[in-house]
Amino acid sequence: MLIPATRLKILNDAPVNLEKDYVLYWMTTARRTRDNFALQHALNLCREYNKPLLVFEALRFDHRWASDRVASYIIDGMRSNSVNFEKAHVAYYPYIEPIKDAAKGLLAALADSAVHMVTDHFPSYFLSRMVQASASKVSARLDLVDGNGLCPLDYAPRTFQTAYSFRRFLQQNMSPFLDEFPDPQPLQHTRFTNRAQVSARIQETWPAARLSSVDTRCNDALMPNGLRYQIGRVDERGGEKAALDRWQRFLKERSDKYDTDRNHPSKTGTSRMSALLHFGHISSHRLVRDLLSSANWTIDDASRINKGSRAGWWNLSPAIEGYLDQIITWRELGYVFCHRNPTDYFKYESLPPWARETLSVHASDPREFTYDLDTLDKAATHDELWNAAQRQLTSEGYIHNYLRMLWGKKIIEWSASPQDAFAYVVELNNRYALDGRNPNSWSGICWTFGRFDRPWGPERPIFGKIRFMSSANTARKLKVKDYIAQYGQLERQDRLPGLE
Ligand SMILES: Cc1cc2nc3c(=O)[nH]c(=O)nc-3n(C[C@H](O)[C@H](O)[C@H](O)COP(=O)(O)OP(=O)(O)OC[C@H]3O[C@@H](n4cnc5c(N)ncnc54)[C@H](O)[C@@H]3O)c2cc1C
Repeated sequence: MLIPATRLKILNDAPVNLEKDYVLYWMTTARRTRDNFALQHALNLCREYNKPLLVFEALRFDHRWASDRVASYIIDGMRSNSVNFEKAHVAYYPYIEPIKDAAKGLLAALADSAVHMVTDHFPSYFLSRMVQASASKVSARLDLVDGNGLCPLDYAPRTFQTAYSFRRFLQQNMSPFLDEFPDPQPLQHTRFTNRAQVSARIQETWPAARLSSVDTRCNDALMPNGLRYQIGRVDERGGEKAALDRWQRFLKERSDKYDTDRNHPSKTGTSRMSALLHFGHISSHRLVRDLLSSANWTIDDASRINKGSRAGWWNLSPAIEGYLDQIITWRELGYVFCHRNPTDYFKYESLPPWARETLSVHASDPREFTYDLDTLDKAATHDELWNAAQRQLTSEGYIHNYLRMLWGKKIIEWSASPQDAFAYVVELNNRYALDGRNPNSWSGICWTFGRFDRPWGPERPIFGKIRFMSSANTARKLKVKDYIAQYGQLERQDRLPGLE
């Protein structure tokens, strides 16, 4: 099954050389074997050229928010992929960079024996730049595949300022994409008679990670040296198998209560899929397909709603419609924003003009409390609910969504300037959150400062027209006693470098 043309871009004009040995899939974002457009495309090329497939998945550690937490989660995923590719008789080359710059030259060396290469598109962090830079250095044709969401990123014609306007665009334009899901199990439709071989020189210079050589519960022996942050691994496991298991549990046990339970931090009312989605261990197509088929939904069930309203779009229960709105509208709104604004989506200056203006008018308002990054990082503020959220972030790599909004808003209130606040939220979110460094990170962070929102009255000190949230109101609304009891007193044991 061919992948949709809107998802494919050729990144260089290197030749396709049929004398070479294999098709190379450089797996950077969609780190999974199912529901993966890029893998599907690579397998199609294998069939076309009658060549075997080599899958190359690497772990780099020289990026700004590299940590043992992130590395361990990625290694979980590599283990899962290694098992699945082995079952399918596909050659898989997992590489963990042991020291800085050790990986230099590896991709180009693998590309030298490739007929054609395929890689993933990801519109944030360093990945897009890394892929673009590699395109001119490799000797094989490089195809970029966008498997990020239901709406291909190039199809959205512009940036949307609100979820409402994006939802309306989706309601009017999305029906063709509901027929264009990736093959759920592309490896099942492939029979390889021979395996791709990696040359002895490459294996000696850049040895593949020996994923089966250490205990599956502990990735320490595989960890690269010199990671920027040692912040502690979390109990939550990454990888395709963990993702599918977690998702099935949510689908069976909690998806029908999502609308009523999602805002209660002590209940496990949300799916906790965000980190697994971020590392590509599962695809959003999979989530949407399962939800729609669990409700026996067919395209004829789509209502004719196309005015941007959330309720009634799918003609399904409020719980399922609520989840679809998060995983499609809210998630893809941020992906489109990053894709369309690649040079500034992460900057304070990319906030809407009205938001910057009102924050600037109130920048010198007196603050009752001001905290620096270190105090925030240590969860040492006067506010026990905020401290509990910060401790959940540092210990579990996660904060419940509603509290995450409050967490961000309070940092605005307690920082010396809105620009400081922005830098602190970015640093803490992306350093500790497993799902950090994602387009959704920038949606959530920037939403706190007014992106995808509207001006609110009455105008308040510090916030101006930016939406305000108070801990006292949140505590009343959410019944947070159990939450504070759970996260209020956790000990910290990590090393904490300061803000750059
Ligand atoms: C200050 C702040 C920072 C945030 N940082 C991140 C981040 O680093 N990474 C991240 O993935 N999300 C971030 N969010 C958005 C949201 O909090 C998380 O996506 C959500 O809490 C993840 O938990 P879940 O998987 O249980 O969500 P569920 O409620 O089960 O939702 C399912 C999926 O829908 C998507 N989704 C849900 N809510 C949102 C939202 N508000 N915006 C965009 N997509 C959404 C996510 O992919 C999520 O996994 C942030 C929000 C705020 C206010």
